Parts: sequence; structure tokens; C-alpha cells
Amino acid sequence: MRPRKSQPTSDGAGVKLRRAFAFHDVPRFDPFLLLDDFGSDDPADYLAGFPWHPHRGIETVTYILHGAVAHGDSMGNRGVIGDGDVQWMTAGGGIIHQEMPQRSEGRTRGFQLWVNLPAAQKMMEPRYRDVKASSIPAATPAQGVTVKLVSGTVDGTRGPVQDLIVEVEYMEILLDAGATWKRPIPADRNSFAYVISGEVRLAGDTLGPETLAHLADASALEVTAGPAGGRLLFGSGVPIEEPVAWGGPIVMNTQAELDRAFDDLDRGTFIQTQPGEVHRRFYQ
Ligand code: MN
Repeated sequence: MRPRKSQPTSDGAGVKLRRAFAFHDVPRFDPFLLLDDFGSDDPADYLAGFPWHPHRGIETVTYILHGAVAHGDSMGNRGVIGDGDVQWMTAGGGIIHQEMPQRSEGRTRGFQLWVNLPAAQKMMEPRYRDVKASSIPAATPAQGVTVKLVSGTVDGTRGPVQDLIVEVEYMEILLDAGATWKRPIPADRNSFAYVISGEVRLAGDTLGPETLAHLADASALEVTAGPAGGRLLFGSGVPIEEPVAWGGPIVMNTQAELDRAFDDLDRGTFIQTQPGEVHRRFYQ
């Protein structure tokens, strides 16, 4: 795959966003399924939000650079994720939640990454974790290079998200003008890089803002910033290598499992622990 720009689209109740990769790309980014880039200085682009909707069979990682997203879920969690915060949500067998961006000053910017679950864990107990910006450490592995670690280790600094089902590294890399960083990628990983802003040279290509690169079988990540610096997301994970049956917010292995999921939604049995209230709200 040649590096490519993320594509403008809309989702939820009409949120404008850019989609870096999604179902058309399966299985290229395995174990990752989707990466969305939310960025706007016009609240009209995001205030409609993502009202009550279900997930099953995946984990979602929401990383807010600037802005605020109010959330609530069928497990009873409620809160707001703000500047620099991460929300890690394991849908497992079923969660119904809402994600509602709040009006904020300046440009809202955030990302949601979907990580697939292996067949054996798709129906696991759902779980939810808020990671505050203050608990996301920054490493400075080279001159002019800052790495904010959500998950994974750089120079002995370890990101706070450590109990993932699939082995995943996920980090934001900030490069000063002309700065270079090279690091090995653990063996057997599938990786991507996504430029947030600025300009980044990677594997012979110069990537501008909102550009995605797939690093297939790469043994190292080597990035150099352009004259105005560069900022990017990097993710790597161990591929699951199982069939993918994808129906909107639900990702299973077979069509029969998808049918069962939508059947469960119809019957009110999607949330095993709390059938009833949240489910009805979702359908009103
Ligand atoms: Mn969601």
C-alpha cells in the first residue's frame, strides 16, 4: 500500500471526521481494524456526537489531543475525557455506550483506534479504563524527539495500558524540525504510522498531515521530521489471523455470530448483565 490521506466521512449522528483505515482494508492492519481522526474548529461538525450504540468483539482506544468527550456506558461508567486523556474500552461480549464531544475552544482533535479481539475473547466480560493525561509518560529517546506512550515501552519508559488482550504498542511521536528517530519494531508485528501534523519522512516517502502509512513486516521504524517538525501516531500489534465478519459497530468471526449479535439487540439480550434500561434507551 502506498501512503495515503485519510478520507473525509461522517459517522454517529453526523460527526464529520477523517477515516484513515476501516473495513475495506481488512486484513491489512490486523490486529487493528479502524482508525478515525476527529478534527474540527467548528462545533457543528461534532456536537451531534455518537449517541447510544452497541459494540461487541473489539476494543476501542480513544485518544483526545484537544477537546472534551462526555461518555456513558451500560456498565454504569460516566465521565469526560479531555486534553491528552485516553479511554480504553473492551466491548467483549457487549457494551452499549455514548460518546458525545463537547463544545470547546479552538480546534478539537482526537483519534479512535479499534483493536480486534481473538475469537476466544470476543465474548469476554466488558471492561473500561480511563487513562488521564498525567499518567501517560513521555520518553525522550533522541534529540528533538518526544514519545508519549499509551502502550508499549521506549527506553525503559512504559505506557500505562498494559493488560491488552492483543500485544499492542501505541504511541504519539513528536519530532522537532529535522529530528530523526529510529527504533526496532518487535518481531512479527503489523504496524502503521499516521501523521497528525507537520511533515514526516518514512521509508523513502514524505508524508504530510493526515497521511497513513502501512509498515508491513518492518523491523524498524525510522522517521525524520521536515523543516517545520512533525507529529505522528504509531501503532504496532501481533496479527490475530482469524476471519473477520464486520457489521457496523460489531466485529465477529462469522456471519452467524453477527446475526446472533443483532438478534440479541432486537431481543434485549445484548447486555448480558443489564438487559433492559440502556437497551431501551438505545432504541428510542
Ligand atoms: Mn463507540
